[in-house]
Amino acid sequence: MKIHEYQARELLAQAGIPVPAARVVESAAAAQAAFQANGSPVQVLKAQVFAGGRGKAGFVKLVKSPEEARAAAEFMLTHRMVSPQTPPQGCPVKKLLIAAAVEISHEYYLGVAVDRAQGAIGVIASAEGGVEIETVAHQRPSAIIRQMVAPGRGLEPFQARQIAVALGFKGGLIGGFADIQVKLVRFFLEHDAALAEINPLVRTTDGRLLALDAKVNFDDNAVWRHPRIAALKDDSETDPLEIRAAAAGLNYIKLDGQIACVVNGAGLAMATMDVIQLHGGRPANFLDVGGGVTPEGAREAFGIILADPNVRGILVNIFGGIARCDLIAEALVQAGRELGFKVPVVVRLEGTRVREANAVLAAAKKDLPTLRTAQDLNEAGQRIVAAAGA
Ligand code: GDP
Ligand code: MG
Repeated sequence: MKIHEYQARELLAQAGIPVPAARVVESAAAAQAAFQANGSPVQVLKAQVFAGGRGKAGFVKLVKSPEEARAAAEFMLTHRMVSPQTPPQGCPVKKLLIAAAVEISHEYYLGVAVDRAQGAIGVIASAEGGVEIETVAHQRPSAIIRQMVAPGRGLEPFQARQIAVALGFKGGLIGGFADIQVKLVRFFLEHDAALAEINPLVRTTDGRLLALDAKVNFDDNAVWRHPRIAALKDDSETDPLEIRAAAAGLNYIKLDGQIACVVNGAGLAMATMDVIQLHGGRPANFLDVGGGVTPEGAREAFGIILADPNVRGILVNIFGGIARCDLIAEALVQAGRELGFKVPVVVRLEGTRVREANAVLAAAKKDLPTLRTAQDLNEAGQRIVAAAGA
């Protein structure tokens, strides 16, 4: 789960990390008023969207008067932000953060993330933080320092000091930077985060360390343990079909192909998408209905994929273990009767109660003229791609 920068800044401040105070506004007039109320001669205005790369896209701007604040806010709220981290059409901006600008002497990068290769949580730090960090990571990986966090212990103060020294900190700032690292790791562990990143973490011209940007993602599977975090969820940038699927307990991810698939089990869903690709089609979604799928859940699954206007064919691939083939078949027939299948549907069922399922499908054949069955997955993939003309 992603949260906005302004929310992440509040959480980090509560965790004891120094973050400049800021306000959130939703209109150009409010930005102008906030500038006046703050009174600092130079302030920074920042679009609150989930994607990064705002600085380079012109959606982080230093402003020097209430009028400039108003104009910059007007621009950000009426233009979609496009960066390498957004879809090509960009994303709309509804909220802005405004804060007194800080005089930066140096920009550092500090992140905590799950390092899958190491099977551990790792601290990532660099003395070359700021908007070029992706290029640095790519071209000069030696400028990036990594330290693993021992499970159950958190980041040890000596590890944090080693990182600080390696980044070139001197004197009291070694302890200051180490303290921020320890607090960021503690925050990460206590909240089941998946990523906690401060970029830039700056040294100011008057020798303070401040977090100027914050990006925090949480592990979706653990958000239920943290009601305060769950309450921060903002679905305004999530695909409406994904919201509907989440409410029905389905694992659904919308993709941009034409062949929809309904599968039980994430691994089988991946294999099904591979088979669609193998035969020249492109999957319209990933959908794992899960083992214990209910009739309502299965019907909602068909409703969701039929709501996608790109879909030109549907492949149903169920290997019934705990899931029952007949239940899926009944949901399929009911969805077909309620919503109408205007596109070809190929069904491959195997396993628990497959005979009953085939009987349900056979009985409904005249109501659902676009429905075909297949004996195995390969045949099913071939048929649906051919029938969809994809
Ligand atoms: P991002 O590009 O989406 O990661 O947005 P950031 O919040 O990281 O801002 C991008 C860049 O804007 C930073 O790397 C800084 O160089 C600059 N910036 C952000 N806040 C301030 C500030 O208060 N003062 C100054 N001088 N620059 C800032
Ligand atoms: Mg940043």
